[in-house]
Amino acid sequence: MPTPIINGFTGYAGESMNPPEKNDSEQETAKPFSREEVDEIDERDRRWAWVEIDRGAIRSNVIEAKHHMRSGCRLLAVVKADGYGHGAVECARIALNAGASYLGVATVDEGIQLRKADITEPILILSQPPQTSIPLLLAYNIMPSVYTTEFALAYGEIADHHGMKAPFHLAVNTGMNRIGVRYDDVVEFERVIGFHRALEQKGMFTHFATADCPDNIDFTIAVNRFNKALEALHQANIDPGIVHAANSAALFRYPKVHYDMCRLGIAMYGIQPCKETRGIADLKPAMSVYARITQTNQVPMSDGVSYGLNWRSSGSTNVCTIPLGYADGLRRGLSGKTKFILDGQYCDQIGNICMDQTMFAVDMRTLGNKPKLEPHIGDKVTIIGRQGDAVLTATEQAYEADTIEHEITCGYAARLPRYYV
Ligand SMILES: *Cc1c(COP(=O)(O)O)cnc(C)c1O
Repeated sequence: MPTPIINGFTGYAGESMNPPEKNDSEQETAKPFSREEVDEIDERDRRWAWVEIDRGAIRSNVIEAKHHMRSGCRLLAVVKADGYGHGAVECARIALNAGASYLGVATVDEGIQLRKADITEPILILSQPPQTSIPLLLAYNIMPSVYTTEFALAYGEIADHHGMKAPFHLAVNTGMNRIGVRYDDVVEFERVIGFHRALEQKGMFTHFATADCPDNIDFTIAVNRFNKALEALHQANIDPGIVHAANSAALFRYPKVHYDMCRLGIAMYGIQPCKETRGIADLKPAMSVYARITQTNQVPMSDGVSYGLNWRSSGSTNVCTIPLGYADGLRRGLSGKTKFILDGQYCDQIGNICMDQTMFAVDMRTLGNKPKLEPHIGDKVTIIGRQGDAVLTATEQAYEADTIEHEITCGYAARLPRYYV
């Protein structure tokens, strides 16, 4: 018997609300979903929140950096922390394509991820990993930064046992006091490890603590210390390999510290490293964050919103919910301090940001000549990015959350699906 269609619902249960008992032939009409079929449903159709990365912006930022460097100076693309939340493999490919020739990561596993994606260019870990990871470095051809003689000699020995070379970059501490051999101990360090036939120094670098601060004496002191170490090596007839020091801020501000290579991080993702580079570097932000409205509520006057009911309705607001929260990178500290964009207009985020959901207010009064907004379930909301003339940046979020943009963009990699456009 064909299924009767009652009230438009084939699943209508009838008066008794009990499903009719099925006989054997009816059982055969059951059509279970195949997992392959449902797995094809786009992530944006599973959850209305996502990140978009503009490939063209990353490409353009790499070209802009190269434009500020003399030809022949290499560019190392820093893709640590999943490319500051932009996707390490994709960003590495774009950067290499746009003129970078070296990659920088923070951990052994970040390097392995690039190798497994068939990336063959040199990869440098920007710190010294544990000695227990040495077989991985050799198997995946990933270079460590080196600054203890114990690590260097263990690395050389293990490589030698396998008939391999042990390439590395020497990290030099010029005042940041994070990692590296102290600038005035470099020659001594080289003498201790210099006998080992497998060790191959491919480069030497330092990292500046204050390249993104207003012009300062500490920066000059660090540069002088690095030059002093280079000079001492020269005197001792030791080849430092590729010499590098500049991060994004130093790349755009101080051409005299470009040496043989620059390390491009935050600026590659389109974010100004500091105020001072704003007039110098033409950068395009690559990351946008979007969501769709999952519910709209006319909240009566004096009713509150979200945990703690910290925000109270004036009676003329439509409260809209979007399905992303602090577990997705929207920092809870931004509660009540950030804005979103709906239909090209700014709307205030209201109430405490939750783990997975967040609310914002749409004013239902007509104010001046702004067209009245009519929010609907499914409408696209911009959390970071541009909609018409309205723009929201990671820089504003960083300022409001009392942090730096790096931490903001890294945060959005936690759970949101990422799309490249
Ligand atoms: C992260 C890092 C960089 C990149 O710095 P940005 O300011 O993001 O350009 C460069 N060098 C080292 C050693 C780093 O750890």
